[in-house]
Amino acid sequence: VSKDNGRNTVKFYTPLMKSQIDEKMWMAEELERAMEEQQFAVYYQPKMNIVTGQITSAEALLRWFHPVRGTIPPVHFIPIAEETGKIIAIGEWVLRMVCKQLQTWQTAGVSCLRIAVNVSPKQFQHPQFIPQLKDIILEFGVDPLYMEIEITESTLMDNTEETIHKLMLLKQMGIHVSIDDFGIGYSSLNYLKRFPVDALKIDQSFIREVQEDSTSAIVTLMIALAHRLQMRVIAEGVETEWQLDFLRFHGCDEIQGYFLSRPMAVNDLETFIVQLE
Ligand code: C2E
Ligand code: MG
Ligand code: MG
Ligand code: MG
Repeated sequence: VSKDNGRNTVKFYTPLMKSQIDEKMWMAEELERAMEEQQFAVYYQPKMNIVTGQITSAEALLRWFHPVRGTIPPVHFIPIAEETGKIIAIGEWVLRMVCKQLQTWQTAGVSCLRIAVNVSPKQFQHPQFIPQLKDIILEFGVDPLYMEIEITESTLMDNTEETIHKLMLLKQMGIHVSIDDFGIGYSSLNYLKRFPVDALKIDQSFIREVQEDSTSAIVTLMIALAHRLQMRVIAEGVETEWQLDFLRFHGCDEIQGYFLSRPMAVNDLETFIVQLE
């Protein structure tokens, strides 16, 4: 129990804090093993153009199937991977899996889908990020036009000049860049115009409450802002027809969410797309 009564200011670990620390250490160790024992998989969630109904791209989402614990969600392990630096190796693995998939589609001659990969702040800021990405793209012979990178506002706010430089390099390579979870970070709007990005992804917390007046005002403003800055705008976490209709009416370009599809294994994604055609 933590005592803070002035005289005794020593803080003790509560059982809860202890178990949280144990949990973190457990996970840091298990992450090490997870890669070796191939417990990870990449799932894909499609994004759809609201006007044409076409699938424009799919987001790669990491899945961890632990032999004892079952499925461990990314919100539980990505922050620990980020903290321990393990995200560098995991992030590289995801990029390789995605490029391998693109290569498979390209060689099979099926029409390729652009794939968006989440890149964590630490991974993006790593000096080897761009060279390594280039190497992987070359190794698998992937057309960079089929690659997309999703970064968050926190990535943009650190080392701004360096970040702009890296974004320019990605643009030159023909790789799309979008800002993920837009609206919940604290990027200043003034900065936004300096970043060469293709799309804003409105965070799902806004979409969840878009039926409320104040939230709908914010969402319509974000759509207008993106368009004035020549960016596409994507709504994340679309779950209902009402939300879809609202977004279509207000000119949002694309949607992603359970209403369209949950994230799924690649063979299910292929079936999903064939059924739409
Ligand atoms: P994100 O990039 O914002 O991804 C969207 C998250 O929303 C995914 O959660 C997705 O499954 C979920 N989602 C999609 N549609 C809906 C919906 O209609 N309703 C609700 N409630 N949720 C929806 P997921 O897969 O659990 O991933 C969570 C976060 O973990 C991601 O958020 C991303 O920040 C991170 N993440 C996932 N995979 C990777 C990865 O390979 N690398 C890195 N660095 N981060 C990753
Ligand atoms: Mg994302
Ligand atoms: Mg997001
Ligand atoms: Mg997120």
